Amino acid sequence: SAPLLRVQDLRVAFPLRDSGDTLKAVDGVSFDVAEGETLGIIGESGSGKSTLGRAIVALLRPDAGRVELAGEDLFALPAPQLRRRRHAMQIIFQDPHAALNPRRRILDSVREPLDIAGEGSPAERTARALAMLARVGLDQAQAARFPHELSGGQKQRVNIARALVRRPRLLVADEATSALDVSIQADILNLYLDLQAEFGLTYVIITHDLAVAMHVSDRLAVMYLGRFVEVAPAATLEQAARHPYTRALLAAEPVALPSRLVTGARMPLQGEIPSPVDPPSGCRFRTRCPVAEPRCAAAEPAWRQVAPGHRVACHLVEGAAC
Ligand code: SF4
Ligand code: MG
Repeated sequence: SAPLLRVQDLRVAFPLRDSGDTLKAVDGVSFDVAEGETLGIIGESGSGKSTLGRAIVALLRPDAGRVELAGEDLFALPAPQLRRRRHAMQIIFQDPHAALNPRRRILDSVREPLDIAGEGSPAERTARALAMLARVGLDQAQAARFPHELSGGQKQRVNIARALVRRPRLLVADEATSALDVSIQADILNLYLDLQAEFGLTYVIITHDLAVAMHVSDRLAVMYLGRFVEVAPAATLEQAARHPYTRALLAAEPVALPSRLVTGARMPLQGEIPSPVDPPSGCRFRTRCPVAEPRCAAAEPAWRQVAPGHRVACHLVEGAAC
């Protein structure tokens, strides 16, 4: 069957007013996510993963490429129709407080999407909002509070309830647990997994945290300077990552992933991610790659399939062109 989400050659660039340059935040990204699947997108800050997340849920319009939800090309839709599709794709951000209106009670914030859509009677909307709050672990007394009266973890639960109250099909989480304490993070991640099973949700989890990504994802995509460099099932990536960047990320997380280090030489990541305004020629990772060769500056590596569902873009990796 067709994937729930299909992204094809997506490009998003931001003009820089002062220099006249262009920042290519997302520079040719393609992938599918099946219904009920979780795709984790990992990368450092500055890789373009947040911009990609916003484009997936149509919060920003790409310069080129397509985003299809259940076979429908979102950016080909007239504005009113696109607006009617919005409830089907939701995004949750890192800061649990910023997303909530401080002057509004929790119940009203969660009810608001239903009010705007005019779904059901006012009593039904209240009942649905309370039911969704209960599902994420918040009771009626908490529903009557204001955001500042809740903890960070509770606020993130409110954001989840608000995102799910109109029953989306796709949920994008952009560093949605990064601001929380580690112990609370685990609770929230497990809540995400329970809700996915209960509501048949499809997830795109965007994070810089490999341990988080591996805990929740079926498949992982590694993003570097606006492009994907490796895509594989999570278990495969954990044990048999092939791209030097992925291997460097894995090697940089010895504490979080004690049993998950790739075999072979450790290649700690050095230096800073280069500017997406002027990315390196050839392979974009070459300025930090410990095994770069002259050809890496000359030509961009093509995608190679190294195993079913496992593709890599690196000159040193052999496999069928894909
Ligand atoms: Fe390193 Fe070259 Fe592979 Fe890029 S293509 S990751 S520079 S070896
Ligand atoms: Mg980000």
